[in-house]
Amino acid sequence: MEAASARRDKLRKSMKALGVDALLVTNFTNVTYLTGFTGDDSYLLVHAKGQVVISDPRYTTQLEEECPGLDAFIRPPGMGMLEGVTQALAAAKIAKLGVEADSMTVGFRDQLAEKLPKTAVVTAARLVEQLREVKDKEEIAEIRQAIWFAEKAFAVLRATLRPERTEKEVADDLENQLRLFGAKGSSFPPIVAVGPRAALPHARPTQQLIGSSEFVLIDWGASGRLYKSDLTRVLVTGRIPAKLERVYRVVLSAQEQAIAAIRPGISGHDVDRVARELIAKAGFGANFGHGLGHGIGLDIHEGPRLAAGQHLPLKPGMVVTVEPGIYLPGWGGVRIEDDILVTKTGHEVLTSVPKAFDEAVLS
Ligand code: ZN
Ligand code: ZN
Repeated sequence: MEAASARRDKLRKSMKALGVDALLVTNFTNVTYLTGFTGDDSYLLVHAKGQVVISDPRYTTQLEEECPGLDAFIRPPGMGMLEGVTQALAAAKIAKLGVEADSMTVGFRDQLAEKLPKTAVVTAARLVEQLREVKDKEEIAEIRQAIWFAEKAFAVLRATLRPERTEKEVADDLENQLRLFGAKGSSFPPIVAVGPRAALPHARPTQQLIGSSEFVLIDWGASGRLYKSDLTRVLVTGRIPAKLERVYRVVLSAQEQAIAAIRPGISGHDVDRVARELIAKAGFGANFGHGLGHGIGLDIHEGPRLAAGQHLPLKPGMVVTVEPGIYLPGWGGVRIEDDILVTKTGHEVLTSVPKAFDEAVLS
């Protein structure tokens, strides 16, 4: 895989800057990113002159299919991961080894240090995660595909939404539609939240009837081959409550203005502030209790974040959600979420489900 080898070259530059001879990649998603291998239970050792996947016999064939030509150390039955890693490291003659602080257990690190008295084991955090923030062409194409699955499934949901159905039925149906259109499945369990339940940003679908309130919030996404999408819309299923229309228009305008601000060089902090100030001015500042957005990719939540305190500049190739919300306990909530690609000159909105207030009204 050409893309994977280009990613490993970039990683070597980060390793050099950090002063480590090798990095032991223990986060399976990071292993996938760097090799194209989609199995579990396998680590990747990347050093200056090469790399080796440390895996077991269950994956021999899959490794040959997904990353032909990549060196693999297949642990024979009975050999644990610690021994496999130790042998792979000894063969590569590593003096200073970086380990992924966000995924390796303290126990494994201690055992490794004990086994390798001549190797300095140092903490390296987020080296691969930082690379993953900027998507290459293949990744952007896969995200577009994950969005396509999500939008096709939503169009069916919108056309078939009935008052006598439950949140759970609608959520299950949505997941099924995603698969029928070719997705692997949902990128996370979809949220279908009626009326007051929409005030909970992470509501789980229940037996509540769609017709028990005037509106419903739907937060969903698809997993394509490997990459994910993430959207939210609110649909009005009953008569239009004046308060809902007012809240909806505030959220929509906050979202549109924040999206308009996205370009290379602006920070996640500043994009978040655009939406937050507008919502505060409308009197709902206390009711927007989460960050504005997050990166999407191999994981449904990854860097960069659009939130207070995020001062690093956005770069072309980043893909982020923009999802302001206003939540009023006991009444309900509105969130509108789209997926945005940072381009060289500004941004591109990758999602295209209509979101004008009139489009949200089904009745
Ligand atoms: Zn979402
Ligand atoms: Zn999201």
